[in-house]
Amino acid sequence: MGVKKLSVSLLKYTPSPEEAIAMGAKLCYSPAGLEELKRGIEARAQDSFLERLLDSGHLSPIEHASFTFGIEGVSRSLLAQITRHRIASFSVKSQRYVSEVSAQNEDGVFGYIVPPRIEALGPGAVLVFKEQMKQVQEWYDFWVDKLGEHGASTYEDARFVLPNAAETKMLVTMNARELLHFFSLRCCSRAQWEIRALAIEMLRLVKQVAPVIFRDAGPGCVKGPCPEGKMSCGKIGEVREQFKKL
Ligand SMILES: Cc1cc2nc3c(=O)[nH]c(=O)nc-3n(C[C@H](O)[C@H](O)[C@H](O)COP(=O)(O)OP(=O)(O)OC[C@H]3O[C@@H](n4cnc5c(N)ncnc54)[C@H](O)[C@@H]3O)c2cc1C
Repeated sequence: MGVKKLSVSLLKYTPSPEEAIAMGAKLCYSPAGLEELKRGIEARAQDSFLERLLDSGHLSPIEHASFTFGIEGVSRSLLAQITRHRIASFSVKSQRYVSEVSAQNEDGVFGYIVPPRIEALGPGAVLVFKEQMKQVQEWYDFWVDKLGEHGASTYEDARFVLPNAAETKMLVTMNARELLHFFSLRCCSRAQWEIRALAIEMLRLVKQVAPVIFRDAGPGCVKGPCPEGKMSCGKIGEVREQFKKL
């Protein structure tokens, strides 16, 4: 195990997500039946209709499209932040049922994330960090031994010595409306670096399959004034350029 890096993939999503959204929205305004609506939607591009829908703020139809991400190489610190998003669904690797004992880890240490600012201090600093993780591994193994039988009741207590840096894996599902909200908060430069990197990667992935819905997604300043007031990074031009290119 040892050092782990962020890895995120879009595992599943609503087929033809923008058609599903257009269908829901058109139903609201049309006397036509579902079959007729479906044929009309399949026959024509829906881009301008979807853009008007987003601009009008009529956002409930975009809840019809959902996206499931597989996420690895993130810290328990990130877990605490992402699970604050209540409209999302989560499945997370358990520290009760999955042991972190050294004998079961490839190179004898549980997986962990090294913060980039520590990496930037150079190899010496990274080595210190790695030694600290090894020390934690020894504490963890000590408590597993002391508590006796291997199993959930031992791991659930031994894990109390594990750090925020410990790696976790999860499946996360969000609908398009929640994703737009998540991106507005977590792609902003005020967000913490790890969840920001994850959010930007998630946005890059969904833009490929629902380009109209996510065209202006990103921090609030991508399509309006910066909502951060005095806390603004003051780099609105650069930020807009970055998200346009994503
Ligand atoms: C830069 C930054 C710093 C942060 N710092 C801290 C911190 O120091 N301490 C801390 O505790 N948290 C902090 N947070 C977390 C933050 O307070 C929110 O918990 C988190 O961003 C989830 O946002 P949300 O509640 O809008 O989103 P979600 O839970 O995804 O909800 C989406 C939207 O649904 C609606 N909604 C959901 N549930 C309810 C409800 N029960 N009642 C009414 N409306 C609801 C709201 O409109 C909400 O915006 C921080 C977040 C950011 C981005």
